[in-house]
Amino acid sequence: MKVPFVDLGQQHLLLKEEINQRLQEVVSCDAFILGDQVVQFEQEFAEYCSVRYAIGVNSGTDALILALKTLGLGPGDEVIAPANTFVATVEAIVHAGCTPRLVDALPGTYNMDPHQVEEAITPATKGIIVVHLYGQPADLDAITKIGRSCGLVVIEDAAQAHGARYKGRRIGSLGDVACFSFYPSKNLGAWGDAGAIVTNDEELTNTARKLRDHGATHKYQHDLVGFNSRLDTIQAAVLSVKLRYLDEWNEERRTYAAVYDELLADLPWVTTPQVLLEVKAVYHLYVVHLQGVDRSRLQSYLEDRGVGTGIHYPRPVHLTPAFEYLCYQRGAFPVAESYAETVLSLPMYPGLRREQQEYVVQQMQAFSKECS
Ligand SMILES: *Cc1c(COP(=O)(O)O)cnc(C)c1O
Repeated sequence: MKVPFVDLGQQHLLLKEEINQRLQEVVSCDAFILGDQVVQFEQEFAEYCSVRYAIGVNSGTDALILALKTLGLGPGDEVIAPANTFVATVEAIVHAGCTPRLVDALPGTYNMDPHQVEEAITPATKGIIVVHLYGQPADLDAITKIGRSCGLVVIEDAAQAHGARYKGRRIGSLGDVACFSFYPSKNLGAWGDAGAIVTNDEELTNTARKLRDHGATHKYQHDLVGFNSRLDTIQAAVLSVKLRYLDEWNEERRTYAAVYDELLADLPWVTTPQVLLEVKAVYHLYVVHLQGVDRSRLQSYLEDRGVGTGIHYPRPVHLTPAFEYLCYQRGAFPVAESYAETVLSLPMYPGLRREQQEYVVQQMQAFSKECS
């Protein structure tokens, strides 16, 4: 049996005709840049996130950079972000000209520790980027409360959490702005790079729309020094089709997570993800934490038996060579550092079959018999 880490082939086979038809529409109108399908997708995605506006951009990373700049943050401003995230969260802070201030994760949920956010605030702090890692919303009430009481902007990095809910409300509507990535393997993925900023604020929307298109909303009227970071019409057409299936796919992911939780309960060296009661997670990744086993041996054992796995992420941001200049030492964020050594992501995607999940867990059981 083969269980790849991700398999997008099934959903694309299912949607091929519908998507091809939409792509032909784009081609026949020559509307490759900011065509009608971009406006349509922005409206649909805003509605999906329960917000007034969505601004399509060319990646999740650009969504974060543009969001910071739209909110007026720049040189001299500190932005707090988790050490346990994909590097793009922190890259964006640097590209917006701001200084990253990292904080550790909470043991258990892998998300940012609100208590440490509070402690990291200095007079220069202007914003917080809260990441909903692996598809589980972070403790938003605690973090937005800190943000409000200290006059900080709160940006949600929702690149892994399309459709997740916090206390019944959709992710994307709870901070000042939220940023999404539509990288192909994300819960809502394009056929290339794509991203979006969502917000309820009209003025921020106008600024973000300018920034993504050379600082202009009308041709050659450049009010700001902007970027070329537009959402391709072709990607918007793909995303419009796929958005209609997102809730169904997220529901599948939750079902598969529950199956793993149950099947893995008997393996004492595996800790399954801990999910807060007040959230509905969307399991972009199903990440377990291992104790007392050699992770790389387990990974190659599984690989040899047709099971793909991943590590998200092998290094916390502060120990990544690109961010050495921030001068954090090993030991600065013990929870993130220990996860980097012990986490393992198991296959998770819409269309995963129960027999495949059973096979994955059987191979893990066989490993512990053979290698302990
Ligand atoms: C994928 C991702 C991004 C970056 O998105 P791109 O579209 O690849 O630029 C940012 N933050 C997190 C947490 C991500 O997972």
